[in-house]
Amino acid sequence: GARGNGSLLDGLNPEQREAVEFRGSALLIVAGAGSGKTRVLTHRIASLIGGREAWPSQILAITFTNKAAAEMRERVEQLLGQASDGMWISTFHSACVRILRREAEKAGLAGTFTIYDSADVRNVLKRIIKELDADTLGFTPAGVSNRISKLKNELADADSYARNANLDDPQEVMFLEIFRQYTRRLRAASALDFDDLISETVFLFRSFPDVAALYQRRFRHVLVDEYQDTNHAQYSLIRELTRPVAPDLAEQMETAGMHVRSLQDASGGIPGASLTVVGDSDQSIYAFRGADIRNIVEFERDYPGAKVVLLEQNYRSTQNILSAANAVISNNFDRKDKKLWTAVGDGDKITGYTGYSGHDEAQFIADEIEALHGAGVAYRDIAVFYRTNAQTRALEEIFVRSAVPYRVVGGTKFYERAEIKDAIAYLIAVANPVDELALRRILNTPKRGIGPATETQLASFAETNGITFREAMRDAGSLGLGPKVTTAILQLAGMLDEAAAKLEPSNPAGVSGVSEVLGFLLEQSALLETLRSSRDPQDETRAENVEELLAQTKDFMRENPDAGLVDFLTQVSLVAAADELDDSSGTVSLMTLHTAKGLEYDSVFLTGIEEGLLPHQMSAGEPGGPAEERRLFYVGITRARKRLYLSLAMTRAQFGETSVAMPSRYLQEIPGELIDWRQSPGMANSRGGTQPRALNARRDGYGSRGGFGGQGELSPAPRPKAEWPNRVTAQVRDNGDLTLTAGDRIRHADFGEGRVTQVTGEGTKRVAHVQFDRSGAKKLLIKIAPIEKL
Ligand code: ATP
Ligand code: MG
Repeated sequence: GARGNGSLLDGLNPEQREAVEFRGSALLIVAGAGSGKTRVLTHRIASLIGGREAWPSQILAITFTNKAAAEMRERVEQLLGQASDGMWISTFHSACVRILRREAEKAGLAGTFTIYDSADVRNVLKRIIKELDADTLGFTPAGVSNRISKLKNELADADSYARNANLDDPQEVMFLEIFRQYTRRLRAASALDFDDLISETVFLFRSFPDVAALYQRRFRHVLVDEYQDTNHAQYSLIRELTRPVAPDLAEQMETAGMHVRSLQDASGGIPGASLTVVGDSDQSIYAFRGADIRNIVEFERDYPGAKVVLLEQNYRSTQNILSAANAVISNNFDRKDKKLWTAVGDGDKITGYTGYSGHDEAQFIADEIEALHGAGVAYRDIAVFYRTNAQTRALEEIFVRSAVPYRVVGGTKFYERAEIKDAIAYLIAVANPVDELALRRILNTPKRGIGPATETQLASFAETNGITFREAMRDAGSLGLGPKVTTAILQLAGMLDEAAAKLEPSNPAGVSGVSEVLGFLLEQSALLETLRSSRDPQDETRAENVEELLAQTKDFMRENPDAGLVDFLTQVSLVAAADELDDSSGTVSLMTLHTAKGLEYDSVFLTGIEEGLLPHQMSAGEPGGPAEERRLFYVGITRARKRLYLSLAMTRAQFGETSVAMPSRYLQEIPGELIDWRQSPGMANSRGGTQPRALNARRDGYGSRGGFGGQGELSPAPRPKAEWPNRVTAQVRDNGDLTLTAGDRIRHADFGEGRVTQVTGEGTKRVAHVQFDRSGAKKLLIKIAPIEKL
């Protein structure tokens, strides 16, 4: 049974308690990282249900990832000691899919609509750009997709955009045409992209107040986590959901038997839902996706009488970690200063480490993880964060070699693999026959002799006859194609129809489940068999992946006995980056800083703290870019509970080139006494080095001054002096003039003596390939390698 409200308030400080117990219409909790914002939401939900003030079905809680949603549900159920069926705890996207599938007809959609991910979107755009010859004007699928996404996040569509566009500008005209075609094609395919999920729901509510009223009546309490990262469309959705229901509409609902009497106020209307939002403007990291910090700032204006609660005690991190976070974020202008404190105590110092290369950095992390593990830290309590996905390569390589069990969260996702997308496309073609993209994808996969020319013929046949691509396939006999091709097309169309029939309740053989249908399709299409019998060794893994998908459909059916194919496809579409995370799996988690939001780990490694990576070079030109990158750094630091590692490398291989890396400007914002800089591998005597090294100067500089004391420059790269006056990296070593040729013997501080086999590259990027007597073959960047010619 439910526990009393007393115990639901245990483990909360007075401010948190106040927030949990507040019963007005609007509540804003602004507070720094780790201050218990998410915890307050969880307790608030539990207190509403536990105190019998709300039914679970009257709660709508929005979290940033499905994973966060699952955690919140679990916590609420734990607090209540009971299951909480009917409660909606989900992401914006999942909530909107649910609404749109239910109200599909009103929304002008097929209930089986497909959800396009970014790769699908780019595919559609690629085709349009090609057809319109728009690439000659510089349009790219990625660029257009970004622009369209931004517009949709502002609730703009092609028509509203056209009203303000400069139609004398050929660029604008072309963009508009692409936008229009894109919209048309998604419509025709009964498909929505991720941004549509939100905006279409908003449009639905605005066009059909009676539909909106169903949800306004239902959800009495709306709670939003990570509110700082909502964009305009999401903000509008919340506004629509929390509007009061007008008296006449409420009366109509009562007449229709919807039992609204108990909800009506004196006017006869239904008051708007109570709204709780929690956020931290210092953690706003999605401005590039249209997130709007103003949503926090203007909350009080939009919801007059809103109560504001501030939380200042951090329960997550040690004081040293917090002090570093506070110091960094205080460099952002335009923010309200809030100082977090903790009662946990200073804790360990932050560990700093400068690798000689990305690989050295990774090796340090692997070694340190093994040391932590040896000292009893579980792998699952350790996380490694990075700014760009490209950084995982070195980390993975070393982790595999060092046998560190790890898991990349949201890297190349399972569902993004080509073979999985192929198999899924078969399912989509069954569920949503008008989805041309899915049909085109499977038309010749596996190869059945249907070439691109035939594909084009089918498409134009469909277009001229005003029928769908699928219908054109069924009609392939009248296209005048060769007999073999015709048979292949008809067979595919027949297979899809047969699969669809299996799902019909009227099917005498009984309704088949998702896994039977997938099994049938894989067999009939020979997709799996083709992979299994292939001589390409990679196809073996691909076959295993497809089998894994089949196994997943079985799990899905077991866990969701009432669900169908569309539900399965929805789940697949909505699995977001952070959702593949599985805490119980006993592995180290690798993820981008963006994915890390809201999470916490005992030990955190923040890697690649270098100029160009953090702040990322792309942010340089953006207004507010470096400030947003600083918030990202702040998010990363504040994930750590006990131990924080900051690492960087002196050289970084990127895009096939190795270049000299500069320490990030943010590093020197952390007071020096908080960081304990370890030796760079080049200095480690224990690793076989014998000579004292110039690099030591650098380490001393770090340790004693906290900045990058010392005079010279590590990098020849130009850097605005004003940004970073005199606090430059120590002269590490400059072998710029060292002339090496194949056959020379050299001595390296770590690797000992060896023979140069080859020199490649030019100028500062010259690389010596060296066969070391004891350490094997290595490649060294001559400019900074700790080497001397013998
Ligand atoms: P973020 O901004 O990173 O999302 P947050 O403000 O949502 O952080 P929570 O994740 O809710 O913070 O809380 C951080 C940690 O502190 C969690 O482990 C939580 O259980 C713990 N915590 C929060 N409040 C208290 C409290 N009053 N007593 C004990 N532990 C608490
Ligand atoms: Mg949180």
